[in-house]
Amino acid sequence: MSLSSLALRWSARRAPLIARATTLCARYNSTYTPQTAALADIDPSRLKVTKRTDLKPQPDLEGLAFGRVFTDHMLTIPWTAESGWDAPQITPYGPLHLEPSSTVLHYAQTLFEGMKAYKNAEGKVTLFRPDMNMKRMITSASRIALPTFNGDALLDLIKQLIRLDAHWIPERPGYSLYIRPTLIGTQRAIGVGPPDEALLFVILSPVGPYYKTGFKPVALHATTEYSRAAPGGTGAFKLGANYAPGVVPQREAAVHGYSQNLWLHGPEHYLTEVGTMNMFVAIRNAQGVAELITPPLDGMILPGVTRDSVLSIAREHASGAHKISGLPDQLIVSERPVTMPEVKQALKDGALLELFGAGTAAIISPVDRVGYLGDDLIIPTGPDGLGPLSKPILAEIQGRQRGEIPSSWSVAV
Ligand SMILES: *Cc1c(COP(=O)(O)O)cnc(C)c1O
Repeated sequence: MSLSSLALRWSARRAPLIARATTLCARYNSTYTPQTAALADIDPSRLKVTKRTDLKPQPDLEGLAFGRVFTDHMLTIPWTAESGWDAPQITPYGPLHLEPSSTVLHYAQTLFEGMKAYKNAEGKVTLFRPDMNMKRMITSASRIALPTFNGDALLDLIKQLIRLDAHWIPERPGYSLYIRPTLIGTQRAIGVGPPDEALLFVILSPVGPYYKTGFKPVALHATTEYSRAAPGGTGAFKLGANYAPGVVPQREAAVHGYSQNLWLHGPEHYLTEVGTMNMFVAIRNAQGVAELITPPLDGMILPGVTRDSVLSIAREHASGAHKISGLPDQLIVSERPVTMPEVKQALKDGALLELFGAGTAAIISPVDRVGYLGDDLIIPTGPDGLGPLSKPILAEIQGRQRGEIPSSWSVAV
């Protein structure tokens, strides 16, 4: 049986799963409504700002580690089941006051987002597709019975917080301000159920380039002994509960010289994600045409903003709507299941072009080695680490992020 007919058979088997996950996601995304009309939504006009008087010293950009330093201020918005969202507050960055009975501490009633603000050479500050983060945050909240909200109102407040701490955004290329919106259940009673109190907060952290020297390829351990996500589980939502269980598998991979897990699923060994990033693989087909493949949103894949950006850019190129220089003229872009046997076969045939992770933190993370069932598969990489498709796509994404390439994805703060 040929590889493509195998792929078709696998797709057919998974079609019901994908359909169900798509329906679920569409339902969450289309049902943004405050719990009842009587409850207050997030209201930026009620914002109270308490500025810090003793501004913190700013870190040396050279040794800046990811997510360790936070800016002067934070945004908090409390919620109760009786009255909805209370007045938003911007206050000096500092500890939260939580009772030990708070449900977040017992049942992981917590979700988060990760997005970045960029400052260009003229000092203009922009966000990258922040509407997608707001939508996803609401989707995550719906999944674990935390309160939903108006995403535009939260985005307005996040912009106000960024403007207040804008001097923390490094202007250097590759640097940015990482934004971490979080929503937790703070009910002060340890029963499992929808919490009657919640707290939304947003903190900001200046960050440097993910890799110090260019885009250094990483080695992955193809993981079959643990799973990150399961059918009908919560892998498609950015919930805190999905991340603690991945730490031990990552540490075990590291002991064997692999920096991340390549999460496989099922006896077929479907590729799903890389660490906490989405995953792409590029294979040249029998006709010599490159196919860029990422697994479909079947409920086990986190719907990444970077994943969507890579797909959109590749599809605009393939359709001729917006050609990207450096990409092969003919390109097939597929959201379809892909298995380790298919990757192994492509490697054997000399048809594997590249394999890479995609996420906000690193943008593109090329892979040069995959440890799979005791063997090391050596994955081709370009001279600077990036492969033939990821390199031009990364340049396009960075250009749009920095506003050098005009695009509706770049939103002014
Ligand atoms: C956040 C995340 C991604 C990437 O999403 P982006 O929106 O591109 O940053 C991918 N997989 C997992 C598991 C994630 O948590």
